[in-house]
Amino acid sequence: MSSGEHHDHDHDHSDVPSDLALRVKSLESLLVDKGLVDPAALDAIVDYYEHKVGPRNGARVVARAWADPDYKQRLLTDATAAIAELGYSGRQGEHMVVVENTPAVHNMVVCTLCSCYPWPVLGLPPAWYKSAAYRSRSVIEPRAVLQEFGVSVPEDAEVRVWDSTSEVRYLVLPERPAGTEGMSEEQLAALVTRDSMIGVGLAAAPQGAAA
Ligand code: FE
Repeated sequence: MSSGEHHDHDHDHSDVPSDLALRVKSLESLLVDKGLVDPAALDAIVDYYEHKVGPRNGARVVARAWADPDYKQRLLTDATAAIAELGYSGRQGEHMVVVENTPAVHNMVVCTLCSCYPWPVLGLPPAWYKSAAYRSRSVIEPRAVLQEFGVSVPEDAEVRVWDSTSEVRYLVLPERPAGTEGMSEEQLAALVTRDSMIGVGLAAAPQGAAA
């Protein structure tokens, strides 16, 4: 710990990932050396969640909830089961909770401890989600963080911050944009951004609609 980190908060943030990366790398080498882990298997897992899963799965979940009130009810009651109905389950998605944005409540998700994130519906977390700045500031000044992401939550609305852990992972059900009546689930899914499901963005307005 240097005394400087109290004055310049960028310092301690940059130290964390390098140390963590080093530890992960050491652990991986050890496991490979002992024959406990196949490095190709690790690469395959990372590639799968980076390129084959991604946030499109979550977008389909949200679109189904917008289009089907019964599904939405199931999603808000037992998210893990409702998400599995669409075929998305497994690693880092075993205990899901979905929180609904309304005009009165805006939800956002963080993992204050590390980077817990629902892989089956969102893929791997973006770098900013893992940053010390996001993890601490989301709790201390969520409205300021949202503002930086371009989201202004009205004064009279409540901001709720959910801390994902290894036990429970949260997904935000964003508000359905106006002007989307009659759109198909596929068209609706195209409006659902990754950030809107973390709660630091809103679903996109349909093409041609007034912003
Ligand atoms: Fe975590």
